[in-house]
Amino acid sequence: AKHKGKSAFAHFAPEMTEVSHERLQMESRMRRALELEEFELYFQPIVHTDSGNLCSVEALLRWNNPSMGMVMPDRFIPLAEETGLIIPIGEWVLEEACKAAVSWKETAGRNIGISVNVSPRQFRDPGFTEAVMRALSASGLEADQLELEITERLILDNSIETAEILRQLDRSGIRLSVDDFGTGYSALSYLKSYPFDTLKIDKSFIQDVMKEPEDASLVRAIINMAHSLGLSVIAEGVEEEPQTHFLKQEGCDFCQGYFYSRPLPAKDFENWLKTNQR
Ligand code: C2E
Ligand code: CA
Ligand code: CA
Ligand code: CA
Repeated sequence: AKHKGKSAFAHFAPEMTEVSHERLQMESRMRRALELEEFELYFQPIVHTDSGNLCSVEALLRWNNPSMGMVMPDRFIPLAEETGLIIPIGEWVLEEACKAAVSWKETAGRNIGISVNVSPRQFRDPGFTEAVMRALSASGLEADQLELEITERLILDNSIETAEILRQLDRSGIRLSVDDFGTGYSALSYLKSYPFDTLKIDKSFIQDVMKEPEDASLVRAIINMAHSLGLSVIAEGVEEEPQTHFLKQEGCDFCQGYFYSRPLPAKDFENWLKTNQR
C-alpha cells in the first residue's frame, strides 16, 4: 500500500481511503469510456446440444482502458449500476449487439440470434423499452432475433412493473430468458406468470454435474420442469465433453461454454463462424 501523507484519516483508515479513491478514479474513467470508445463486445456461441451447430450468440461486455488494461464486467458492472452509467452503457451494448447480428446475417448468410444481458437498474429505467426498440429499428434486426437475458434476482422484486415491461417486450416479439437460473432462492411461480422463452441453468450446477449426483438430479429436474412449461433450456459453463453427453441424454436444448468456445472478439468470432457447420 502507498503512504498517504499524515492526515488523521489516512492514518486510521488507510484501506478505506484507498478503496474510495480507486472507486472514484474508476468512476471518472468510466464516465469517459463511451466517448473514448473503450468498450468492446465479445461474443460467445450458444450451440444446439445435439449437433453442436451454432444457434445464437451471447454478447459480453469488455472495457479496454489504457491504464487498467482489459477490465472484466464483474469488476465494473456493479459500479456502473450504482452510478447509473449502466443506462448509456447498456444502450450502447444493445445497439452494437443488434448491428453485429445484422452484419453476420449478411456475411454468413444465415440468421444468428443475439442475447444481451440486462441489469436491474437498466431494466427499471423508464426509457428502457424505447431504447430496445430504437436499437432494433436502427439496425434493422428482427425482434425475434434479439433475446434479453434477465437475472432471476431482478424478477423477484417490483413485480407489477416488471411484469408489465416483460409483457410489453414479449408482445413486440423479443425473446426473454431467465439468466443464472437457480441462484435466486426464488419461488418458481414466476415462471408460469411471466412470458419467458428460455431458461439458462447457472454454471454452478453444470460445473460438478459429472461428480455430484445431486447436481445431476437438479439439472435433470430443471430441464424437465422447463420443458413442461414450454421453455427451452441453455446449459451455461459447459467445459468438458462428458458434460455434453449428459446434457444431450437429458434433452437439454442448447449449450454454452468454453468446451465450444470462449467469448471472442468480433473478428475471431467471424472466423469461428466460418468453421462451424450449419
Ligand atoms: P453471465 O451473463 O452469466 O455470462 C456468462 C459468464 O460466464 C461470462 O463471464 C462468460 O465469459 C463466462 N463463461 C462462459 N463459458 C464459461 C465456461 O465454460 N466456464 C466458466 N467458468 N465461465 C464461462 P463474463 O464475460 O466475465 O461476464 C460476467 C457477467 O457480467 C455476466 O454473467 C453478466 O452478468 C455480466 N455482463 C456481461 N456483459 C454484460 C452487459 O453487456 N451488460 C450487463 N448488464 N451485464 C453484463
Ligand atoms: Ca448472461
Ligand atoms: Ca416470448
Ligand atoms: Ca448466466
